[in-house]
Amino acid sequence: MSRGISKKQFLKWLRYDKIQQIKRNMGNNQLTKAFLIVALLVIFSIGITSANTASQNQNFSIIVLPDTQHYSESYPWIFTNQTQWIIDNMDELNIKFVIHEGDIVEDANDDTQWNRANKSMSVLDGKVPYGILPGNHDENITEYEEYFPAERYGNYSYWGGSCDHNTNNYQLFSGLGMDFIVINLGWKPDSDDIIWANEILKSYSERKAIVVTHGYMDKRATREIPQFDSSYIWNDLIVPNRNVFLVLCGHTHSEAGRMDVIDERTVHQLLADYQDRPNGGDGWLRIIEFRENKTKASNLDLVIKTYSPFLNKYETDEDSQFELREELQCPSLLDISLSKIEIRLERLKINFMSILKGVLFIKVIKNA
Ligand SMILES: [Zn+2]
Repeated sequence: MSRGISKKQFLKWLRYDKIQQIKRNMGNNQLTKAFLIVALLVIFSIGITSANTASQNQNFSIIVLPDTQHYSESYPWIFTNQTQWIIDNMDELNIKFVIHEGDIVEDANDDTQWNRANKSMSVLDGKVPYGILPGNHDENITEYEEYFPAERYGNYSYWGGSCDHNTNNYQLFSGLGMDFIVINLGWKPDSDDIIWANEILKSYSERKAIVVTHGYMDKRATREIPQFDSSYIWNDLIVPNRNVFLVLCGHTHSEAGRMDVIDERTVHQLLADYQDRPNGGDGWLRIIEFRENKTKASNLDLVIKTYSPFLNKYETDEDSQFELREELQCPSLLDISLSKIEIRLERLKINFMSILKGVLFIKVIKNA
């Protein structure tokens, strides 16, 4: 052997006795083959591990479906076009969750409309986690519950639970190393609903929370809609739960947004409802992208886009497409990333050592 290291030293390092034993049991060629197979398996498993890590670290999207009532009434193919587009773009947009903002149908006593809505929403079943809630137009609750009962979702791992005939429910999902809870509240939630939602939000206080309810904000972005003043939802639910960062609603035929800061915590509240547009809303929906902030790795940016798969068009005016920068502060994300780097370096060290040992092993056998 060259470079001042004796073969004896090498063999000692490679646990000579074990090698001899293996050598006795196998021919040299077989041994070389076995090593190559092991080496290939190691390389293959490194590939799989890094691919998995990459998918967990990817930016992701959630999709928001505003009032679908006129599609269920007259344009069911536009509703199905929306849900099918979601499935077709799951990988491309890394879609983690879908939210329906309520007013699923126009007339809650019309079975035809419920059947159409059911058909359109069924496209998502078992393929992507989603949450659904009743708006004012969905109240015949018996019909709502017949088509969208809690049992429909009970077996999915993302399903959290529900109360009051599934008018209120919640789901769990994760993305970019963060855990989220989506809590959906039915039309004009009463004090029992608010108590329930408080209990759920408190028991999942470590998860970033999105609250969805059909009626919450008007087009001037005040918390007052013609039917009621929704300030109680803000005061009794959003303010006391520090994990809520986003509130989504429909009902008012418009787009609007407001941002409130409570003790250095920002809560965004967004209204979207396109039901007054041609064809019952022209298929407009919202894409909310969650992106890692380029300058502050611990923070996430939210990018809101308005898109219609039916028109294949983005709406890009200032209340339809905008960025909420560095809004999601997640100190744990940096910690997770650092520990991942450590683990990767450790793995690299181990793999390098085993490959080196393997190469020397083959050399020793060849020269023996
Ligand atoms: Zn409504």
